[in-house]
Amino acid sequence: MSYTHKPTVIETIAEKLHLIPDLHTEGEGPAVKSAAVNGEQVNCPPPDQWDNWVEYDSKSWPERKSKEYMIIPTACFNCEAGCGLLAYVDKESMTMRKLVGNPYHPASRGRNCAKGPATLNQIEDTDRVLYPMKRSGKRGGGKWDRVSWDSVLDDIAGRMRKAIQEGRNNEISYHVGRPGHEGFMEWVLRAWNVDGHNSHTNVCSSGARFGYAIWEGLDRPSPDYTNAKFMLLVSAHLESGHYFNPHAQRIVEARMKGAKLAVLDPRLSNTASMSDYWMPSFPGSEPAILLAMAKVLLDEGIYNRDYLENWVNWKEYLQQDYQGSPVTFENFIEALKKEYSAYTPEYAEKESGVKAAMIVEVARKIGEAGTQFATHVWRSASSGNLGGWAVSRTLHFLNVLTGSVGTPGGTSPSAWNKFHPDVHAKPKPQTFWNTLQLPDEYPLAHFELSFLLPHFLKEGRGKLDVYFTRVFNPVWTYPDGFSWIEALEDESKIALHAALTPTWSETAYFADYVLPMGHSAERHDLISYETHAGKWIAFRQPVLRVAHAKMGHPVEYTWQANTGEVWEEDEFWIELTWRIDPDGSLGIKQYCMSPYRPGEKITIEEYYRYIFERVPGLPEKAAKEGLTALEYMQKYGAFEVETNVYKVNERAVSPADMQDSAVDQYTGLITKNGKSIGVQVAGIPCTGFPTPSRKQEFYSQTMVDWKWPEYRLPAYIKSHVHQEIMNRSKGEFALVPTFRLPVLIHSRSGNAKWLAEIAHRNPVWMNASDAKSLGFEDGDLIRVNTDIGFFINRAWVTEGIRPGVVACSHHIGRWRREQDPAANRWSTNRVQIKREGGGKWKMRVEESIEPYESSDPDSTRIFWSDGGVHQNITFPVHPDPISGMHCWHQKVRIEKAHEEDRYGDVFVDTERSHQIYKEWLAMTRPAPGPDGLRRPLWMGRPFRPDEKTFYIS
Ligand code: SF4
Repeated sequence: MSYTHKPTVIETIAEKLHLIPDLHTEGEGPAVKSAAVNGEQVNCPPPDQWDNWVEYDSKSWPERKSKEYMIIPTACFNCEAGCGLLAYVDKESMTMRKLVGNPYHPASRGRNCAKGPATLNQIEDTDRVLYPMKRSGKRGGGKWDRVSWDSVLDDIAGRMRKAIQEGRNNEISYHVGRPGHEGFMEWVLRAWNVDGHNSHTNVCSSGARFGYAIWEGLDRPSPDYTNAKFMLLVSAHLESGHYFNPHAQRIVEARMKGAKLAVLDPRLSNTASMSDYWMPSFPGSEPAILLAMAKVLLDEGIYNRDYLENWVNWKEYLQQDYQGSPVTFENFIEALKKEYSAYTPEYAEKESGVKAAMIVEVARKIGEAGTQFATHVWRSASSGNLGGWAVSRTLHFLNVLTGSVGTPGGTSPSAWNKFHPDVHAKPKPQTFWNTLQLPDEYPLAHFELSFLLPHFLKEGRGKLDVYFTRVFNPVWTYPDGFSWIEALEDESKIALHAALTPTWSETAYFADYVLPMGHSAERHDLISYETHAGKWIAFRQPVLRVAHAKMGHPVEYTWQANTGEVWEEDEFWIELTWRIDPDGSLGIKQYCMSPYRPGEKITIEEYYRYIFERVPGLPEKAAKEGLTALEYMQKYGAFEVETNVYKVNERAVSPADMQDSAVDQYTGLITKNGKSIGVQVAGIPCTGFPTPSRKQEFYSQTMVDWKWPEYRLPAYIKSHVHQEIMNRSKGEFALVPTFRLPVLIHSRSGNAKWLAEIAHRNPVWMNASDAKSLGFEDGDLIRVNTDIGFFINRAWVTEGIRPGVVACSHHIGRWRREQDPAANRWSTNRVQIKREGGGKWKMRVEESIEPYESSDPDSTRIFWSDGGVHQNITFPVHPDPISGMHCWHQKVRIEKAHEEDRYGDVFVDTERSHQIYKEWLAMTRPAPGPDGLRRPLWMGRPFRPDEKTFYIS
């Protein structure tokens, strides 16, 4: 490396005496040249030297021993942000030695959080699953045999072929924890004609998504922080929110330019501590605050008339709610003022505990920021509360009022900043609708009700013949994990469970096959996310496979280059799909054909080559360097497709599309062949938003049509953990269990030693005043009673949480049993689980974390012993009747631990859990809706099946 600063006298002498390497003389030895990226200087080896980069070996110090590396770009998989990574491969040992940020990635721009570099730990984990394993003995019994990939593929493919031949397509399910490979599974599942996609969205973001979708048809926000003047977050974005590293660096940029930040969070998160306004609200009261802010904007006239008049369906609102009154904009504003007159800042203070004066001050700042007002909600309030979707709906209301939708410094719909690839095969939409995933009780759910699967199976709504879990650990991550164990153990309900996973997990222990899949640097993926006002793609690639090819030893399959026989999903699905239909008679095989070699099976390179050749601008950019589009992506790992993406709704409908179209003179709606294609605004035919009105829907006829007229407008819904149902004298609190620790990843960081070393406890946060009134000291053992059981944890007494609320992070409390393979030992307690009959389950920690012997000397240096407490397993399911979101927050009763209680103890009653499921189910207003529909046709649905399946026949 070379340093640019002037050496001190001591450095110069030390270099001359070779006590330290000469870091300052250019031309001698390897030198890091600074590279310019978007006009910024970054310290990174220049790409033309990535195939042959030399660095000194730090461990050989003081000897100056150089090492030759290849630097290969890939993308992180440790959260959804998909930041760029550069992997350093030692040419001598052909192993990865480190992973650092890739400055050529448009979202992360060379920066990573701790979890990116820690990918190396996951790859080198001595406990990881290296070969396909098949259970022997009873399911969950802990006995495993190593098997070949061939036998796995033949067995599963044969079973699937039979199910498809017999029309049991709905008995095949693919349940994904951490999604990735954009567009890949749409292709695969449609090729199988299986409506089998089941996601984790309903324990993550269904609530927030629904609130956005009901406004604008698109379901997530994409703030342009960099250009914002005021930012309002209902999340902890500077440490762990969605896309947090790409977002956090832009929030910081905006603040450095003078922008202000407000944070709604009952907990003093790192983000709240960095904010200008921390508003520690009672959980679920956020919409009351947001509507009070809306009222300030309306009363003080600091709204954006132009945007409201042109882009909101206010005429529809007046026509429906004020029949007979003149439909004028002035009347609309008067109606708004009347509608929200009760949401005074004082009322919001009473509901939330946030001072009215602060609410008013923040509202005025929002009004001042105008179109440069950026917002985001991720998990937190929208995923914690009954009616949590009202949080995003009322938050977005502020963007609409200020006209900051899709503007520089404002907030765009996510889809504008996300690239969708064009894949080589386009099978027809599935002809099945799987009610085990989207049942008729939840016609508006966003999306599948995957966390209710054990209850659906228990009720006999169906069964599964082949159940894939992919990077997915519901036993541990989901609520009500013991109900999951009961379902997974029952072979009459789930005939075959194949867990595709990079590491052993609480769910994999109950599989029939455990199939080792690669971490980020061991697999292909195409990723694109809404991190800023641009559009980009990144290429996750299996680093060692690429390295072998560069060294002249290409492999046919990724598992041949990875450690052990660790494979990757993409190739696995191609091989499996090919074997389901070996003779082509099912019509599946045709979708696996190479677009370049007719009649031959597609290769993974061809799959990505086809996509990259169709990314606008990429082939041209690659050609300038004499590369193909695929070679460009292999070289740089990322490409920015578009920059400065704003006001997409104002893009004109093409003249060709306008031909033979009709324009409604009153609403401006442009239709063609019975479908809306745009909206006329100020005389211009615009594409608008994918809603029935093609505008922002302040008034939702959909909510009226689907039996929820009381929520036709943005509203406040009182949470199931509202403060008025808490009896503090009985120790009742709202428990916030949703917050992330910045260095951990749900259940996938358990085998990352650097991360486990930093964070390995999850005590219960409790305000000092609450602790005092209950007689607790910091560190006291407490029993936290939920509606179906309890967990025993320690109190952490702090001023960093508002009184009346307690909080406990997930991520921690991982476990394994005596019979399970010893895995994730940096983070797992060894527990005993007892099934006591009648749905009663007990878990007790028998051995906490300890040093152990392995080929990694660090395993003998473990200094921590506290593995935390598994809280999620004590939560009943709480499906929101509209969005389908699991409402995570719990009403808990806290008491001193009983004499027999030990730290980490868990008790659960799954029969009680099933009763609670039924209580929440009873809150739904099931389909059919208008025309016998299961779901509104205009609303998004993942892996959308054929339109005919939308009708309940
Ligand atoms: S934010 Fe961290 S964990 Fe997430 S993709 Fe980026 S580096 Fe990986």
